[in-house]
Amino acid sequence: MAADPFDVAVVGGGPAGLSAALSLARARRRVIVFDAGDPRNGVAAHMHGVLGHDGLPPTRLLERGRVEVEQYGGVVVEGRVESARARGGGIEVDGPSGAVTARRLIVATGLRDRLPDIAGLREQWGRGVVVCPYCDGWERRHHTIGVIAAGPQGVDQAHQLRQWSERIVYFPNDVGEPGADAVRTLEARGIRIERGPVRAVRSSDGRVEAVELDDRSVAVETIFTATTLHPRDRLLRDLGARTLDDAAGSWVVVDPDGRTSVEHVWAVGNVIDRRSNVSVSLGAGSLIAGAVNADLTAADIALG
Ligand SMILES: Cc1cc2nc3c(=O)[nH]c(=O)nc-3n(C[C@H](O)[C@H](O)[C@H](O)COP(=O)(O)OP(=O)(O)OC[C@H]3O[C@@H](n4cnc5c(N)ncnc54)[C@H](O)[C@@H]3O)c2cc1C
Repeated sequence: MAADPFDVAVVGGGPAGLSAALSLARARRRVIVFDAGDPRNGVAAHMHGVLGHDGLPPTRLLERGRVEVEQYGGVVVEGRVESARARGGGIEVDGPSGAVTARRLIVATGLRDRLPDIAGLREQWGRGVVVCPYCDGWERRHHTIGVIAAGPQGVDQAHQLRQWSERIVYFPNDVGEPGADAVRTLEARGIRIERGPVRAVRSSDGRVEAVELDDRSVAVETIFTATTLHPRDRLLRDLGARTLDDAAGSWVVVDPDGRTSVEHVWAVGNVIDRRSNVSVSLGAGSLIAGAVNADLTAADIALG
C-alpha cells in the first residue's frame, strides 16, 4: 500500500464508491477504496436497467470497476472500516490493516433491506422475492405475481405491477382491508385480492410456488413486497453528521454536491439516498468526485 496520506479515502466499493474513485484516480488524486464485499444487490444473479450493462451480474460490474480504479493507480483494499475520526486537517480511517489518513473521506456504504417477517421469504430474496419492478419486472411479465403488502403503499405497488403482468394477486396480509375505493380500483384492473394473514411462502426446486394463508394456498410465481431500508451510516453518525428524521426514517443529510455537515466528509449512493439505483449511484459517484476534486484544488491553492 502506498504511503499516507491519500488525497481521498472511499469507504464502500459498490457502484457509487467505485465510480467516485475512478474519476478521482483519473484526476491523478491518490485514492484508496475499502470494501467489505457485500453490495446490496449481491444476491441477484443479473442487473437490469443499467445502460450498456443490462443483464450483467452485479458482482461482475464491481470486479470491472475495481480493475479500472487500479489501472489509474487507485488502491482497493478488501475489508471493513470500523471507525474514522478527524486528524490533522483530514480524516483517519481504521482499515483492516490499520489506520490510514486521507485529506477527504467519501462514505458509500449503501443500505440494508429488512424483509417482512414471513417464513420462506428470505430464502428467495433477490430471486423469487424482489422489490423493484424496473429491475425485475420485465423478466416476470408472464408470471402470476403476488404482492405482499408491507404497508398501505402495497395497493400502489399492486397497481404499478399491473403494468408488467396481467396476473396480479394482492395480499393485504396484516396491513388490513383496503378501503372501498382501493378495492374498487384493484378489482376494476383485474387485480385479485386474497385476504388474511400470510403465514409462509412455499418454494420448490428453487422457485416460488405459493403463498400460504391460514386456510388455503394461493399459487404465485414471483413475489413483490417492500423492505424496510436501513442506511449503513454508522461511520457518518459517529463522526457527527447531521441527520433528518421524518416519517421515511432517519437519513444523513448532504448538500447537492454530496457534502455532509462534517468537515472533509462526503457521502454518496444508497447510504444517503434510497432512490439511488445502480445508474443513479454511478452518476452520483462521478458528480461527487468532481466536487471533492474541486475542494482539494481549493485547498491546494490555499497552501500556495
Ligand atoms: C435484490 C436487489 C436487486 C437489485 N437489482 C437492481 C438492478 O437490477 N438494477 C439497479 O439499478 N439496481 C438494482 N438494485 C439496487 C442496487 O443494489 C443499488 O442501487 C446499489 O447497490 C447502490 O449502490 P451503492 O454503491 O450505494 O451501495 P452498495 O452497492 O450496497 O455498495 C456498498 C458497499 O459498501 C461496502 N461497505 C459497507 N459498509 C462498509 C464498511 N464499514 N467498510 C467497508 N465497506 C463497507 C459493502 O460491502 C458494499 O460492497 C437492486 C437491489 C436489490 C436489493
